[in-house]
Amino acid sequence: RTVYVNGQYVPESEASISVFDRGFLFADGIYEVTAVLNGRLMDFEGHVARLHRSLNELNMHLTLNDNALRDIHRQLIEKNDLQEGLVYLQVTRGVADRDFAYPDASTPVTLVAFTQQKAIIDSPLAERGLRVISLPDMRWGRRDIKTVQLLYPSMAKMEAKKRGADDAWLVESGLVTEASSSNAWIVDHDNTLITRELSRSLLHGITRRAVMQLARQHDMKVEERGFTIKEAQNAREAFVTSATSLVYPVISIDQRSVGDGTPGDIAKALRRLYIEAGLSVSSS
Ligand code: PLP
Repeated sequence: RTVYVNGQYVPESEASISVFDRGFLFADGIYEVTAVLNGRLMDFEGHVARLHRSLNELNMHLTLNDNALRDIHRQLIEKNDLQEGLVYLQVTRGVADRDFAYPDASTPVTLVAFTQQKAIIDSPLAERGLRVISLPDMRWGRRDIKTVQLLYPSMAKMEAKKRGADDAWLVESGLVTEASSSNAWIVDHDNTLITRELSRSLLHGITRRAVMQLARQHDMKVEERGFTIKEAQNAREAFVTSATSLVYPVISIDQRSVGDGTPGDIAKALRRLYIEAGLSVSSS
């Protein structure tokens, strides 16, 4: 693979980052993952907008403009001949002596990007649907910032796998915040889509927003509010959204079937609509 590191495209075996990089020492960095379908970026504008938001919240400064960022994404897609998968972009606060205080603002950030192949459209998990477990949300209080501090979600994923499930839905004060790496949704018995309102408690998913728009365009009702695991278990359908899963139906929660225990029609329809919308975009 050809990867991007601080202005250069290099074979992955030649790419290097300092031992003193704050991303490595403090998880002092943020990232974005943009899906690639048919060689094209999905929702790139949304991902770049969120990148800026994360940078702002953490007082990090990126000198590259959005066109340059888009160019890096496109070049990586081209150099790696990527048809379907993702582009990962990470920005850290750069290299400095180890100190909790941020280094001088003139310290250049570290910018890394790479591609990864993934079958997104023909995904076995989309066909089968996910089994999820619930776990307490023990992450930090600024989940709206997309930081590389991902240990708790990794632990949650491992716990889910240990229990024979695919993923975890995280619960705080009795309500689901989101899944370990996606936003959580349910569909009630009036076919209203429900997903938690935006706050610092969850990531403001780009796919969440896109799917919400699509749903409203197709005259579906969407309600933004929290819900309990019990409500989700008793819902008509459940699903998750994220850049690289798009829409994955959820078929069970804590071993209780949701609906009839097979992928729901609304989740399947939203997945199809989102893929169609992505494939019809010609500008990215
Ligand atoms: N929630 C969490 C915790 C995530 O890590 C992600 C991203 O993968 C999402 C939600 C979904 O966000 P997006 O749709 O922007 O990929």
